[in-house]
Amino acid sequence: QGYTVVKDGINKWCIPKFGKMRVDAVIYVNDTLKELLHEDQSLRQITNAATLPGVVKPVIGMPDIHEGFGLPIGGVMAIEEKGVISAGAVGYDINCGVRLLRTNLEAEYFNKELLYKLIERIEYYVPTGIGKKGRHKGITRLIFDDVVHNGVEAVIKAGFGKKSDLNFIEEGGKLSGADISAVSKEAQERGEEQLGTLGGGNHFIEIQQVDSILDEKLAERFGLFKGQIAVMIHTGSRGFGHQIATDYTKILWEAAKKYGVDVPEKGLAAAPIDSKEGKAYYKAMAAAVNFAFSNRQIIMFDVIKAFEDVLKKSSESMGFQLVYDVAHNIAKWEEHGGKKLLVHRKGATRALPAGHPQNPSFYKESGHPALIPGSMGTGSYVVVGTEKAAETFYSVNHGAGRRLSRNKAKKITKEEFEKAMGDVIYNVRSFKDIVDESPLAYKDVEEVISVLSERGITTPVARLIPLAVVKG
Ligand code: 5GP
Ligand code: MN
Ligand code: MN
Repeated sequence: QGYTVVKDGINKWCIPKFGKMRVDAVIYVNDTLKELLHEDQSLRQITNAATLPGVVKPVIGMPDIHEGFGLPIGGVMAIEEKGVISAGAVGYDINCGVRLLRTNLEAEYFNKELLYKLIERIEYYVPTGIGKKGRHKGITRLIFDDVVHNGVEAVIKAGFGKKSDLNFIEEGGKLSGADISAVSKEAQERGEEQLGTLGGGNHFIEIQQVDSILDEKLAERFGLFKGQIAVMIHTGSRGFGHQIATDYTKILWEAAKKYGVDVPEKGLAAAPIDSKEGKAYYKAMAAAVNFAFSNRQIIMFDVIKAFEDVLKKSSESMGFQLVYDVAHNIAKWEEHGGKKLLVHRKGATRALPAGHPQNPSFYKESGHPALIPGSMGTGSYVVVGTEKAAETFYSVNHGAGRRLSRNKAKKITKEEFEKAMGDVIYNVRSFKDIVDESPLAYKDVEEVISVLSERGITTPVARLIPLAVVKG
């Protein structure tokens, strides 16, 4: 395929620049995970991204890398101010991300009957599945403008959660620069209806148990202990972000021609950051980022209500507290090596180390938690980035990553599926609708997590295992 892959130290491989590439590409995998990469186009995709104007060394593939539209999932691409912005390098689900809630509840008291009741009640409050409308749309329609411009603060004002939650969300729950006038009517209409919904497929609400503590000190700071009940929420900006991504992929594709940007494939459609189209995309993307943070805030509120109903206890007495909320599809201005860069993370999570000034104040000394879901039948992780993560623009993987495409995963049999799920309870779906989310469809999360920890880029803090999952 034209490129060579050269080993460059522990779990790191370099694709030296060739052809139109402006910079090298780098991937973080071990030998086993590296074998999987020959089956898809993800390596070619990071080399394509390395041709874009303003790209800074290197374009990165994370250990969970797999083929995507334009940039692969698990891709990080940093661009200088005079370079380009790309919608395909953020992804269709703008600010898809993960939020983790902790409690003071002990998992040993959660029997199957109780877990069934909980997921049933959660599904009663949180609309799940593609195209569902929000239960709170009466309110969310009224505050929609406030939400897209001001983020989570707007939904807290409307009664969803408490002010202090803002301290536990990336960017404080608001990316500045959002402007609804850059968003199409169609996107707005989809957004107004869908705020407060989980969405389909890969999105989930999972009741988890803290299975092991891997760093005592950090776990204590994050309020995590062995045997604890936690809840992980994974969703994004629903039809709102999807429509914005669709609209702007077209707009940026045309703009690329207009400005003479040489774009190697449609998925990497890009325009100069300071062009009319580039600026408009940033404004619309920021609106979707704020929408998604707010979406997860509303869902958290509804999940807690479900626990209150079923356990007949107050949120306070159950010790519900937001641990953190991180984006994994986003482009953000950040400073790296004294330079202002627009860092595109698509299926990658920011992970700032201890002492980094951009940490929320509560996590300044420890570094903030980075949340890495595995699958609904295996483990998920909380990790922290180290100083060495500077080499990835302080980014880590966002999951285990797909091993099988959705089509290939459809071949998994019911027996295989059930064996992989073990005792984990899941919401009722036809087998056909859930089989492509089988744990077998994802890479081995233990292996994926070890890639960056062995390299010294992350410190694993806790491993969580699923007890019950509400799948979108
Ligand atoms: P994505 O945002 O790329 O769809 O998914 C992020 C990651 O979440 C996937 O790479 C996968 O490792 C993980 N994941 C997908 N479904 C589930 C689930 O139901 N539960 C948990 N804990 N993780 C999941
Ligand atoms: Mn998503
Ligand atoms: Mn996601």
